[in-house]
Amino acid sequence: MNIPGHLAVGITQHHLLNFPPDDKKLLTVLLVGSLFPDIADKTIGYILKLMPGGRHCAHNIFSLLASTLIITKLVGNLAGYAWFSGYTGHLLVDSDRFMPWFFPLKAYNFPKGRGISFQADSMIKETLLLVLAVIIFYVNYARRIK
Ligand SMILES: [Zn+2]
Repeated sequence: MNIPGHLAVGITQHHLLNFPPDDKKLLTVLLVGSLFPDIADKTIGYILKLMPGGRHCAHNIFSLLASTLIITKLVGNLAGYAWFSGYTGHLLVDSDRFMPWFFPLKAYNFPKGRGISFQADSMIKETLLLVLAVIIFYVNYARRIK
């Protein structure tokens, strides 16, 4: 999944998990958490070329738990829950392909990955999904502030 799809999943999680729609800090934390695994691993793998592929250091259960602990300690329990939700949503929707869930405790044969590239049909579908998620978010927000 690409950035628009991950953001759409994050916004949908924000709605389904009943986070306050007017709390922009929690929404921001959730959305950054929903993008963090790709920001970290694609930077490490494709830009810095320190690891093969784009799923390794941040696409596993240990980085999910450690980063959630850090966010919880720095920002608070609700922010930690928002981070955990966004991050977990990212890992779950990515799990249709290679996912090193237990790296670095378990050895993996990391695939080379496709690099930073986008398929037009996926981007269009995910962007439409994101637009739909944003519309639902604002309709919900408008209903709640009345
Ligand atoms: Zn990912």
